[in-house]
This record gives sequence, structure tokens and C-alpha cells, in this order.
Amino acid sequence: MNNESISPETPAVNRHFIRQIIDNDLAAGTVKSIVTRFPPEPNGYLHIGHAKAICLDFGMAKEYGGKCHLRMDDTNPTREDVEYVESIQEDVRWLGFDWGENYFHASDYFDKIYDYAIQLIKLGKAYVCHLSAEEWKDYRGVPDKPGKASPWRDRSVEENLEEFAKMTRGEYDEGAATLRAKVDMFSPNMHMRDPVIYRVRKVAHHNTGDKWCVYPMYDFAHPLEDAIEGVTHSICTLEFEVHRPFYDWVINTLNTPSKPHQYEFARLNLTYTMMSKRRLLELVQENLVNGWDDPRMPTVCGLRRRGYTPESIRNFCEIIGVTKYNSLTDVALLEHTVRADLNKTSPRAMAVMNPVKVVIDNYPENQVEELTAVNNPEDEAAGTRIVPFSREIFIEREDFMEDAPKKFFRLTPGREVRLRWAYVVKCVSCEKDADGNVTVIHCTYDPETRGGNTPDGRKIKATIHWVSAAHAKPVEVRLYDRLFTKEEPADVPEGGDWRDNLNPASLTVATALVEPSLLDVPAGARFQFERIGYFCADPDSKPGAPVFNRTVTLKDSKKF
Ligand code: ATP
Ligand code: MG
Repeated sequence: MNNESISPETPAVNRHFIRQIIDNDLAAGTVKSIVTRFPPEPNGYLHIGHAKAICLDFGMAKEYGGKCHLRMDDTNPTREDVEYVESIQEDVRWLGFDWGENYFHASDYFDKIYDYAIQLIKLGKAYVCHLSAEEWKDYRGVPDKPGKASPWRDRSVEENLEEFAKMTRGEYDEGAATLRAKVDMFSPNMHMRDPVIYRVRKVAHHNTGDKWCVYPMYDFAHPLEDAIEGVTHSICTLEFEVHRPFYDWVINTLNTPSKPHQYEFARLNLTYTMMSKRRLLELVQENLVNGWDDPRMPTVCGLRRRGYTPESIRNFCEIIGVTKYNSLTDVALLEHTVRADLNKTSPRAMAVMNPVKVVIDNYPENQVEELTAVNNPEDEAAGTRIVPFSREIFIEREDFMEDAPKKFFRLTPGREVRLRWAYVVKCVSCEKDADGNVTVIHCTYDPETRGGNTPDGRKIKATIHWVSAAHAKPVEVRLYDRLFTKEEPADVPEGGDWRDNLNPASLTVATALVEPSLLDVPAGARFQFERIGYFCADPDSKPGAPVFNRTVTLKDSKKF
């Protein structure tokens, strides 16, 4: 783990290597204005790992007054799923970024990419090859042994142009012909051993329909897309580092309108989290979670539904920094940044999770007082609200003990506590059922302490939350815990299954008694339930019947 000594409150700007590269390029004048791109494949929902890439791609463009393009990487001729495209756009916007007019599809460039392939053939740098995939594996060799040239490697330009035209007209079946770049069969880098740049796929494409039955490979298409769009810094994850020589080969061999550079950073890995798109899809399809936006999912829409703020996700991405080595980040750090942000921004409210009744014996029956409660002590602008107070209230069962040790400062016979925003009360006795469970606690209140102040200056050690019995309403609360029980849930022994690492207690549905101000809150509204945790109103909420998701508990599980 690499987050042992980080102070996440206000992330100091970290002069990570991408910033240094941009600084140097701007200072040297090799780049006038920076252009980046975020290129998701629209085959799934964005997750917190993508958020790191988005914060880098869009974040650098924003910081340096440049532009970041949103480019759907749809070179694979699958049916485009509008659901995925829309969710990607929504999530990028929600994270606080804007592509302006720069929304593109990789498939917009199929004509141009095809022309570049023709150029390569004309330069004698690409050939049509008929080795089967199996044969090719053998020809390609292994990293420490050079490969062998394909028998078709030295075809003439004319023959290659004709063969590529045949491929394009659909005269070859899938797998019967490929276009390969002619690079270096002796390269220690396997990606330079004449990689396939076009293949036959007799599949319609959502954007170009039946126009094509040949499609470019990612390694050929990506540098060209970047060059066509004038991208200056093409930032991707570390696994593309070995692809960079071919990226550069494409850019340097062809006469492209611009000369982009690729830079690689380490992807985000989080403890107790799985980020592979395939696994996330399995979680959804097997109903192991309730959809892509299940608040236990690491998807951006899941985190949003859970109550995470875009600010906290951006802060998290800044704090973890950008490096060139893979590591595992503690999910507790993400939770910490969420807490730090919510502490500053979320209004407080009172909710009792495990209620026991308190009767204030000397408080007039049928009297209701409207007390003023401060919404957020961290934010004066958040104002105040009214909470009703009456003779019978509920408090947390844990806040009472009949036979309490000296160090127990909450309610116990003979001791005083402060009811948040209300009065100081003193416990006098309790009633119990036949099993010895406390059913009612009796207190008296001190009318001089309205608002919780003690005019005589006496010290009250504890303040507890409460709700008025006549005014409180039961609401559904969904208490989320981590989805997995293992730090590295994808790491399973032989014959094991990652599903065995699912946390059976990742969701507990409970009922809380809440103060009336919480009954008509809009979905997405965030609160701190005092002394309990941060909660967010779920889209399942109905007027008068909110449902709250627990975003995070109140306290860190680790020190940062
Ligand atoms: P696939 O295997 O389907 O390609 P992917 O996670 O790479 O999955 P993309 O849609 O291609 O998905 O990702 C878009 C961008 O997000 C890429 O530039 C990729 O490098 C980046 N990205 C994906 N996962 C992470 C991660 N865990 N941390 C940082 N960046 C990521
Ligand atoms: Mg990818």
C-alpha cells in the first residue's frame, strides 16, 4: 500500500510527471496549447479507475487552459449500446468536466485510417498476409527468439494494393487475410513484429453500417485518431507502454497532420474492489448487485447513488497522484476523502437507528416546542432548521446504561446529558419488560437549559441525538458495507471463485426514526445523521417516504 502518510484534507498540487512533461513542453514551445483525450470503449459503465484517467485527461486540459476530447473508442464493430454512451457522458459531466464541441467517435475516422493504410502499402510498409492465427503465433516467435518472416512479407506494392482491395470488397473470409505493418521481425518487442493493422470482420457497425468489412486494429487506429484530432498528450495506462514504439512508428512513418506523444501512468487498483469491466458485468448479470448503479459498485453511477461527491472523487484522484508503478490503493483513503468533503458540505440531521423511548416526566404533556438546530457547524451559510421537541422522545438504546461504569458519560440514572439543540436532561429511572429489556427511560429536564446551554456554567460531558416520538417517522435506510471481504478479491487460489469473496453482509436494510425535516428531501440530498454517518437520499425515495443510503460511516477505519 502506498498511502501511509498522506494528508488528504486539502490535496496539495502534486507536480507529478505528467505535469512536469506538460510544463517542459510549454516552456520549450514544442506545444502551444495542450489537447488530451479520454477514449472509453462504450461497452460498460465508467468506474473509479476511469475517474482517475478522466481527472488526468480532462483535469490537465482544464488546468492548462487546453482541451480534452471525449472520444468513443468504437473501432470494434459491435452494436453501440446507447445506454453505455449516455452513461459515459453523464458520468464525465457529473465529475465536473466538459468536452465542449469535442465529442468524437473513432469510427468517424474509418475513411482516413483506411487511406493511411493505403499510404503504408504504397510506402512498402504494409502487406497482406494469409497466415492463420495459429501459424502466425509460430512465425511471430517468442520475446527472446526472433520471429520468421511471413511468406507474404515481400509482396509487391501493386499486389498488396490489389489484395487489400479484395479484403475490402469482402472477397476473403474472416481470418483468411490480414493487413500487417512491415516493421521488424527481430524486434525484442513483440508488438513490433509486423502487427496486424486491419482484419476482415463481416459485421455491421453501428455508425458505418455495412460500409466496411475490414476494420483497423486499436494499435494502428489510436495514434491516427490522436494525430487527426491534434492531440498533444495522449495519456493512457501502463499496459500500453510496450505499444508505444508502434504508436511512434505509425506517427513517424506516415505523414500525419500532427505528431502526438503517448504517456503512460499506473492504473488505479483499490483494495476490496474489483474493477475489471468483465467482472462488473458479471456482478450485474448474475444479480449479485442491483444493477450498475448499485451503491456497492465502484462505478461512477454507483458511487453517485451512494452519495459520493464529485469533489471528493477529484480530491482522491489528486491525492493518490500519478505514477509509473502499479500499486494497490487502500479504499479507506477514498472513504476518508469522501468523509472530509461531506463533513464540510452536508447538513446535519437527527435519526435514531435503534430506538428506546424516553419520557421527560416534568415536561408538560401535549406541549410541542420548535427548537432551532444549526444545519452545519462547518458552514454558517447552511443556516438553521426547526426541530420539534415534546415530552416523549426516542434516543439510541446504546446511549443508555442502567448500571454504568464511571467512564460512561451518557444516560444512566442520576446523570445528566445534553439533548442536541434541546435541553439538559437527568435520568431518574427506567422500566423493563419481563426479559429485563429496558422499555422506557424516565428523565427530568432543566427548563433553564433551552438550546442545550447551561446558564450556571455546569459541565455536561455528553450530547446525544434524539427525535420527538410524536413527530418522528420510520424510514428505510440501506447500510452498505464493502462488497468484498478480501483486500484483493480477484486474487483467488486455483479452483477458487472470486464470488466466494463477496461479503454476505454488504447490504443491511434497516429502519430509522428520523426528524420531520428529512421526510421530503429530493433524491441525491446528502446528510450527516448526527453521530451515525453520512447518508444520501436514494432515487427510490417517494414524497414523505425517503430511502437513505449510507454513504460512509462517521469515523475512519485507518489513520491517514
Ligand atoms: P477494456 O479492457 O474494455 O479496454 P478499459 O478499462 O481499458 O477496459 P476503456 O473504456 O478502454 O476500458 O478505458 C478508457 C480509459 O480509461 C483508458 O484510457 C484506460 O486506460 C483508462 N482506465 C481504465 N481503467 C483504469 C484504471 N483502473 N485506472 C486508471 N485508468 C483506467
Ligand atoms: Mg481499454
